[in-house]
Amino acid sequence: MEASENCSVKVALHIRPLIGDERSQGCKECVTVTPGKPQIQIGTHSFTFDHVYGIGGAPSSAMFEECISPLIDGLFQGYNATVLAYGQTGSGKTYTMGTGYGDGCQTGLIPKVMNVLFSKIDILKHQTEFQLQVSFIEILKEEVRDLLDSVSLSKLDAANGHAAKANSHGRHPLQIRETSNGAITLAGLTEVAVSSSQEMAACLAQGSLSRATASTNMNNQSSRSHAIFTITLEQLRKIHSTFPGNDTPDEDMGEEYFCAKFHLVDLAGSERAKRTGSDSLRLKEGIHINKGLLALGNVISALGDEKKRKEGMHVPYRDSKLTRLLQDSLGGNSKTVMIACISPADINAEESLNTLKYANRAR
Ligand code: ADP
Ligand code: MG
Repeated sequence: MEASENCSVKVALHIRPLIGDERSQGCKECVTVTPGKPQIQIGTHSFTFDHVYGIGGAPSSAMFEECISPLIDGLFQGYNATVLAYGQTGSGKTYTMGTGYGDGCQTGLIPKVMNVLFSKIDILKHQTEFQLQVSFIEILKEEVRDLLDSVSLSKLDAANGHAAKANSHGRHPLQIRETSNGAITLAGLTEVAVSSSQEMAACLAQGSLSRATASTNMNNQSSRSHAIFTITLEQLRKIHSTFPGNDTPDEDMGEEYFCAKFHLVDLAGSERAKRTGSDSLRLKEGIHINKGLLALGNVISALGDEKKRKEGMHVPYRDSKLTRLLQDSLGGNSKTVMIACISPADINAEESLNTLKYANRAR
């Protein structure tokens, strides 16, 4: 049925390999994947997802083909899309998405998305005019921050010869607005027009670098914020009289306009705010982040429940900044993929089980 196909939430599991720390501590793998099935066992628990990937290194081309390519195709048809990487800190979210600075920058999904987008545009550009914009924000403590505003300042600076305002430290949080047709916007958001994958990659690198952190521990960098890299694709397509099903005469050719957003989200670490709660600020961040992940879980589980959806069940988008921002790109005519990331190590078994339970609810 088309409606359920359009409103699909797919869940994929990514199991990264054991990493250096875990190996040197003598960790053992505590998860097993059923051969030939998207099924995983941990202890006495067993879970089935749409796809299971791992334990083999970088995000596989199978993951891209099965999970991401359909979203890109949808984008060209005007459908919004969202990819969410969920999991505890250290489970491989940033590596998988490619939102890190340096590490994962080349291997992650986003760089590949960029290349595929531009090669598609190259093929279609004869009959369609394209405009691409990117934005990059993070949500920390329920505040939305623009990760690209220094890019816009330097551009403005170059274009107008104005001195860039020295406000890169005192950035104002952005406010969420909803337009009359239900589109979600951020007041004052920097949207950078890009015309090549290199320009897009430069924005990704710039934003990743400025992603804020209050952490003194490098391993915990960015673990408490949600990072959302958004690609907006605008298309102005000439309608030819030979277009299938179009009976407009030659002299009366029109134009079709499509606009779609692709959100690539590197979520905050899903671990509970415990151990680190020595100072109250840190604790506050933990609580807020759990609020976003909690709301996301509720929204996705409501969307995945076809019966409840048909009964017009309330989808609690307004419960957090994260779900509010993604409101027009989760459900409705959009496509969503959640990539649940876990470590295979026995020391992480408890958090891995939590991630599997969360992801299972989303199905
Ligand atoms: P997260 O963003 O969830 O906190 P990271 O993406 O930073 O986790 O990954 C944690 C560590 O594991 C990093 O050192 C990263 O290089 C490594 N890692 C993650 N995924 C993989 C993978 N698929 N293959 C090899 N190393 C990985
Ligand atoms: Mg990370």
